[in-house]
Amino acid sequence: MIPVIKTVREVREHVRAWRNEGLSVGLVPTMGFLHEGHRSLIERAVAENDRVVVSVFVNPIQFAPNEDLESYPRDIEADRALCTDAGAAMIFNPEPAEMYPQGFCTAVDMNGLKFELCGKSRPIHFSGVCTVVTKLFNIVGPDRAYFGQKDAQQLAIIRRMVRDLNMPLEVVGCPIVREEDGLAKSSRNTYLNEQERAAALILSKTIFLGQKLVDEGERDAKKLIAAMEANIATEPLARIDYVDVVDAENIERIDRLEGEVLVAMAVHIGKTRLIDNFIASVE
Ligand code: AMP
Repeated sequence: MIPVIKTVREVREHVRAWRNEGLSVGLVPTMGFLHEGHRSLIERAVAENDRVVVSVFVNPIQFAPNEDLESYPRDIEADRALCTDAGAAMIFNPEPAEMYPQGFCTAVDMNGLKFELCGKSRPIHFSGVCTVVTKLFNIVGPDRAYFGQKDAQQLAIIRRMVRDLNMPLEVVGCPIVREEDGLAKSSRNTYLNEQERAAALILSKTIFLGQKLVDEGERDAKKLIAAMEANIATEPLARIDYVDVVDAENIERIDRLEGEVLVAMAVHIGKTRLIDNFIASVE
């Protein structure tokens, strides 16, 4: 089994030794309770780097007080087994006090890209993400870092942050991994009871419907959103947070589908908030 490292100092010692051997380093940031979606990122990182660090940290500063910080599922031994099997070299699993010691008061924030989609209902979320990801980059110093398209707005924001602040690494985006029936894999799927799990299929079904409509030529964002919302409304357990169409790079709303567009949604199934999306390249 690979080591589970708790301190910044020890991570740096390991990485320094690897660097002395001339080895490249990949980083996969996660909140743990790892599944096949995370595994796909880790395997990609293992294929492209000599050593891979997986961080497992449920980052308190990206959760609002009414969100699921306390109940977020955790199982570090299962995560360790998955990471070992996938070929990672180390897990970094700090306590909150290691990341945010007394007196911590610095933030990394965006002046764009965070205002639409998830940023509307989670206004502090992306500042928390940017801050922790910056810290992880500074702690590990990877050549490449791996993020899932599942969190499309997060991926766009991290790409922009790295570009804006000249962070010396490559950001690699990885495709969404789904359950056999279509539901996007998520640690939060464990919150769903049997009935909710069946109802949650409305997300991926609506994503596939949206994809089909775009393939068939729909270019009007309002019409696309209306059709997708109407589809979600057929599921009584579903409550829409948003369905929206934005420019994939700048995360700004658009009326007509043109270029790289991101079609994204967040839907509550009971108490669980789930997200899904697709990217379309439109002529
Ligand atoms: P999380 O632990 O949910 O914060 O996710 C850690 C990383 O794994 C993020 O970059 C996510 O986008 C990615 N990820 C989570 N679920 C999936 C999935 N179903 N497919 C691909 N990547 C995913």
